[in-house]
Amino acid sequence: MCDAAKLPGEAVRLNRRSFLQSPTVLAAAGLLAGGPCASLAHADALTREQRDKMTPDEILAMMKRGNARFRKGEGSKRNFLAEQKASAKGQYPAVVILSCIDSRAPAEIVMDLGIGDAFNCRVAGNISNEDILGSMEFACKVAGAKVILVMGHTACGAIKGAIDSVKLGNLTELLAKIRPAVDKTEFTGEKTTKNAAYVDAVARKNVALTMAQILEKSPVLRELESKRAIKIAGAMYDLETAAVDFLS
Ligand SMILES: [Zn+2]
Repeated sequence: MCDAAKLPGEAVRLNRRSFLQSPTVLAAAGLLAGGPCASLAHADALTREQRDKMTPDEILAMMKRGNARFRKGEGSKRNFLAEQKASAKGQYPAVVILSCIDSRAPAEIVMDLGIGDAFNCRVAGNISNEDILGSMEFACKVAGAKVILVMGHTACGAIKGAIDSVKLGNLTELLAKIRPAVDKTEFTGEKTTKNAAYVDAVARKNVALTMAQILEKSPVLRELESKRAIKIAGAMYDLETAAVDFLS
């Protein structure tokens, strides 16, 4: 049965639909062999061909469309089991996302992405360190992801902790990595955690500094970026409106 409802996420489906319109791509992907319905099996997870054909800007546009659908309550009717099965023997994610651990900011859900679409690094305050950079280097250099997205969010507890110089076990060292953003945020008004606008301004600065640090600390990613093989982007997720505001 050719049942459109069985297709994976719309974010990927939209992109795949454009592929499926091309006889050349159909042939290259081997999708013609079993007739139209055969494409469904391949459409359950990104293939290498599909991912490699997308530009970083197209991948960013796909995520923006996904967030627009999520905000309207029109997220894709996913068959996660089909996505799981289709991706079990190989993965070709288009993006690696660095976002906060906050339970209200699940990057894949709010951008309507499916299994196999994105690598996901999550750490409080979306900071980078050697382990995160190593993960990104694997994602981009080895596995072929083309976009690095650093996504902060509003009302971030880690940002508030850094502003207040909270000291707690291993968290102390983590928050120290956010401190440069606190120090470099230019803001007119009350600079306390009681001021939501200030907290969000620091979070925005933290995204920008993390993006810069990725390039500064990783020659591997710097080389890929200089060759335009990858693009590094930043975003802020608004807990109130569910909007992902892309900063670049
Ligand atoms: Zn957070």
